[in-house]
Amino acid sequence: MRQGNTIWNPERECAGREEMRRWQGQQLTAMIERMYNHVPFYKKKLREKGIEPGDIRSVDQLELLPFTTKEDLRDNYPFALFTVPQSDVVRIHASSGTTGKPTVVGYTRKDIETWAEVVARSLAMAGIHRGDTIQVAYGYGPFTGGLGLHYGAEKIGATVIPTSSGNTRKQLQFMTDFNATVLACTPSYAAHLGESIRKEGIDPETVKLRAGVFGAEPWSDEMRRQIEKLFNIRAYDIYGLSEVIGPGVSMECECQCGNHIFEDHFIPEIIDPDTLEVLPDGAIGELVFTTVSKEAMPLLRYRTRDLTRLCREKCDCGRTLVRMEKCLGRTDDMLIIRGVNVFPSQIESVLMDMSETSPHYQLIIRRENNLDTLEVRVEISEQNWSDSIRELETIRRCIMQNIKSMLGISATIKLVEPNSIQRSEGKAQRIIDYRQ
Ligand SMILES: [Zn+2]
Repeated sequence: MRQGNTIWNPERECAGREEMRRWQGQQLTAMIERMYNHVPFYKKKLREKGIEPGDIRSVDQLELLPFTTKEDLRDNYPFALFTVPQSDVVRIHASSGTTGKPTVVGYTRKDIETWAEVVARSLAMAGIHRGDTIQVAYGYGPFTGGLGLHYGAEKIGATVIPTSSGNTRKQLQFMTDFNATVLACTPSYAAHLGESIRKEGIDPETVKLRAGVFGAEPWSDEMRRQIEKLFNIRAYDIYGLSEVIGPGVSMECECQCGNHIFEDHFIPEIIDPDTLEVLPDGAIGELVFTTVSKEAMPLLRYRTRDLTRLCREKCDCGRTLVRMEKCLGRTDDMLIIRGVNVFPSQIESVLMDMSETSPHYQLIIRRENNLDTLEVRVEISEQNWSDSIRELETIRRCIMQNIKSMLGISATIKLVEPNSIQRSEGKAQRIIDYRQ
């Protein structure tokens, strides 16, 4: 085991496989009983499968259970999936979908404690501890990012600056004046803040950040390297989704070889999104979670639509928790262009692999004469913008060839001026699809 970073909860994070499975099984049995007795939706679904409380005794039986989808959450809007009376719910979060009703999630007092615990474990994984000052630039509100990080950061005893998202100038002022050592926000906003340091004429020496905890949108390893360079920090991936709990479902340790899933609370499976069959470890498929410890709104085999794979090999950090690879993307984000499956993260990794581009880009998809076209707009870095037309043309051709060799489809590449693509303070809007 490596020395250095503290493991927040070694009993759980380093548990033996059999011990973990026993714990998961007990929790699962209790969760099925709660669902069956208090939520008509689940009772009906379980009965359709011929399952009664007490039938499920082990995680091996997960496969027998029905799935839950985002549509199920919408159909039961707002509170029909709660297993506790309203008086036991101390917090409600909601994620605004692009279409339809928002997805509502309730928390009991114990759920809030669980959430703080998994975020505390996450921060400890990135070597963050009491004495650190964490600037939480995730949005505070119904979105789970801000308050999720906040409670976990307080739990480890760090100093929290709850800036919420937006107001870049003030963010930078607080960052330097209050000696923030950790930044937590979306990767796209981190990239924007990093670039703004120089633009606002701030001496990079006055920025004391040493780590970043970034998530809420898929980002590539190449994007990570850009952000690390901008701030001279180590950037860690935190993963979560509001339906499951919020940030803190899984987190990267200092080895940065996948995110450890807090599987004592969130049992993962990987399924084939078409056949719904469970896939073996190592196979890429849709990530599914069963949230065994949640009180207010536990979820049974919730389909996240995120695509990744699981790895149970021993990690050098000493934790035994299963790891998930950085998400390839969401099944919802997957673009089908001329019949080819394209994830924005694949294009991002091509762009970020080049030193001449900035971390800001947009993908524009159109249909012209029944043929899909892909246009990639990417900002050129300040240093390269003054290059000659011939040099810019070389960069453009290089991007075009790399995209063609990665995806097998041609794209039109448009190099645009620095700062011409609109900046996002939360999740970046990277895809404009005119086909819908
Ligand atoms: Zn590890």
